[in-house]
Amino acid sequence: MTTINVLDHGFVRLVDHMGDDSAIVQAARVSYGEGTKTPSEDRGLIRYLMRHQHWTPFEMVELKFHVKLPIFVERQWVRHRTASTNEESARYSVMSDGVYTPSLRDIKPQSTTLKQGTADEPVSVQDAVEVRSHMLNAYVTARTVYESLLKGESLVCEKFTGISREQARIVMPLASYTQKYWKTNLRNLIHFLHLRLDKHAQYEIRVYAEAIKSLVAPLFPLAIEAADDYVFGSYTLSRMDIEFLRDVFYLPLTNEREIFGAFADHKRFGMTKREADDLMKILKPKEEQ
Ligand SMILES: Cc1cc2nc3c(=O)[nH]c(=O)nc-3n(C[C@H](O)[C@H](O)[C@H](O)COP(=O)(O)OP(=O)(O)OC[C@H]3O[C@@H](n4cnc5c(N)ncnc54)[C@H](O)[C@@H]3O)c2cc1C
Repeated sequence: MTTINVLDHGFVRLVDHMGDDSAIVQAARVSYGEGTKTPSEDRGLIRYLMRHQHWTPFEMVELKFHVKLPIFVERQWVRHRTASTNEESARYSVMSDGVYTPSLRDIKPQSTTLKQGTADEPVSVQDAVEVRSHMLNAYVTARTVYESLLKGESLVCEKFTGISREQARIVMPLASYTQKYWKTNLRNLIHFLHLRLDKHAQYEIRVYAEAIKSLVAPLFPLAIEAADDYVFGSYTLSRMDIEFLRDVFYLPLTNEREIFGAFADHKRFGMTKREADDLMKILKPKEEQ
């Protein structure tokens, strides 16, 4: 069983799976009652299905993972409702002492442009060392209080040997590690990867998505290749984006300045400045993105 280590104490492991690329084409062809086709026809069919969002054949493939992850990452992950989760119980067992601490280069300031993100550049090494030391102090304090509550060290009444695990756990930080089994089908997995591989997703969940993709890519090479082209690497064009692009391609524009002149007038296409900037980012040469 292949395990990929993620963050400082986490991992992702593919425990089991059902089906492969041919299970997808087999399901898609059932309606026509046709036999096995050539590999290139299979590839064409998988790409056609994904391009046209004909998703049910991808639901024929099931995958089950064992994941160890910080609680704050699980809190984002569990929002993907079209999956089955069974998580370690901190009511039943004593929490392990693994706690996530970001590496020095991953400690970054609040982004000034994105309310929900970090800036691209890390803080100075000196500041990062300071931040990590504050985090570690908080973790040690929380762990000490947790263990003393479990043992009842601070309780005066000798009748009790400690408070319950379900109550003691509430002092523990969101950075504490938990574990889960997670089962989903390939359609929902692709949707999960689409959202969580994206650069707008938090780094700590993105690295799990990257690990999952590298585990599944060799098992479903055709489906993941199609997802790279039609889902992960794609961008939905709005009506205004399309009207703008139509102008760029079909009006007799003489030079680049005129194209960007048309673009600067984003209101002409009913676009907000933010929408226009987003489109511009997508259209930039790859090396400038
Ligand atoms: C970058 C980013 C930032 C986010 N920020 C926030 C945030 O600030 N606050 C917050 O609360 N969440 C936030 N989320 C979570 C987000 O809103 C979704 O809950 C999460 O990404 C799961 O997506 P989903 O609902 O499409 O997936 P799933 O729950 O797996 O659902 C898959 C699909 O099934 C269908 N579906 C599932 N349930 C229903 C339903 N009840 N009704 C109708 N259709 C349904 C929908 O088509 C859905 O796309 C963020 C997510 C991302 C990626």
